[in-house]
Amino acid sequence: MSARTRVEARTRRSIARYPSVTSLPINHTVLERFLRYVVIDTQSDPTSPTCPSTEKQKDLGRVLASELRDMGLKDAHLDEHGYVYATIPATTSKKVPVICFCSHMDTAPDCSGKNVKPQVVKNYQGGDIALPGDKAQIIRVSEHPELANQIGNDIVTTDGTTLLGADDKAGVAEIMDAAKFLIDNPQIKHGTIKILFTPDEEIGRGVDKADLKKLGADFAYTLDGSTAGQLEDETFSADGATIVIQGVSTHPGTAKGKMEHAIKIASRIIDALPKDTCSPETTEGREGFVHPTGISGALENATVQLIVRDFTEQGLRQKAAMLQDIIDGVMKDYPRSTYTLTIKEQYRNMKQVLDDHPAIVDNAAEAIRRAGLKPVRSRIRGGTDGSRLTSLGLPCPNIFAGGHAFHSRLEWVSAQDMQAAVRTIVHLAMIFEEQAA
Ligand SMILES: [Zn+2]
Repeated sequence: MSARTRVEARTRRSIARYPSVTSLPINHTVLERFLRYVVIDTQSDPTSPTCPSTEKQKDLGRVLASELRDMGLKDAHLDEHGYVYATIPATTSKKVPVICFCSHMDTAPDCSGKNVKPQVVKNYQGGDIALPGDKAQIIRVSEHPELANQIGNDIVTTDGTTLLGADDKAGVAEIMDAAKFLIDNPQIKHGTIKILFTPDEEIGRGVDKADLKKLGADFAYTLDGSTAGQLEDETFSADGATIVIQGVSTHPGTAKGKMEHAIKIASRIIDALPKDTCSPETTEGREGFVHPTGISGALENATVQLIVRDFTEQGLRQKAAMLQDIIDGVMKDYPRSTYTLTIKEQYRNMKQVLDDHPAIVDNAAEAIRRAGLKPVRSRIRGGTDGSRLTSLGLPCPNIFAGGHAFHSRLEWVSAQDMQAAVRTIVHLAMIFEEQAA
């Protein structure tokens, strides 16, 4: 048992000892919702130019909008781009900030999401879980140590032939269940709550057509994290870099002393990148990197695409300067060739913004505590819908949704962790109302 596992086991015992912490009268239907949503295929497609990238994502969007309308949310709708919006009206006369809860409806292109056959292992008693549809697929305790914290819980898996889609239909089901609870219990005081379900998060386009003006929220939370209790308030800052090289073309038969080959220049630039540091394969934790993601070219022109990642602006600037130095060094040997280096901002570490609004993250931590869990803050070596929303002016940390082994056939989530996320949402709404004047 790892130190972290011990902490979590202790946390779970404390839930039993302090039942009042979790004693919201929630009649949980989150599992039943989740099972309903995962069988709807919503795989996104990075090669499609449309929004949503796949029309089938709207199948789930239509179900969600209709269920929200049935709950009584009159403005609930699916828009033409595949986004679902809805408003839970305030139950208080206090001036409470407008909170949005957000999850993505699509599943990853890496693994099939068609004909998902969810299985529920009720009252899990430990041990490996063999998936019935493919004997080679086994969720092993040795590879999934979080299973040790799930004894007695109901664990949902697939049959082993597809992904499950807990990423992020767990988040969708949790927000839906919390909405239902809040609507059915108007005695619970909260401000206006906005719901946003997005398509195409897995292909990096989840925010492209989000209408933040229409949404009208002051800040948001994505429910798209993993282990129960997790709260992520930090992501990479990200730039894209494009190098376009203009070489000198001549007939190869008469090229001596004249030709400057754009492909060879591009190769030399890539070869000059650091070998033992500053790459995804040599870094972890807080370290950033410069990473080529594409190259194309011919004799006369070549283009190299790279991504630059760091947790700080200063780190991004240093890496851009390093890239510039490398290019200048190589270009000295090609006096008649030219190049351009364009750096484009992609997204920024949400912490830069969230640090200015400490209540957003602190209240989420408090809500997780009230839901009976120990909040664990962590950072993401990547971006989320939330980092882009934060960049666009809607501060948005990420709360756990409970799923594990994302994008794989071994994906799993427990009903109890999803219930904890539902409680977290409800408590969070209550906390902001308590604090309001
Ligand atoms: Zn996700």
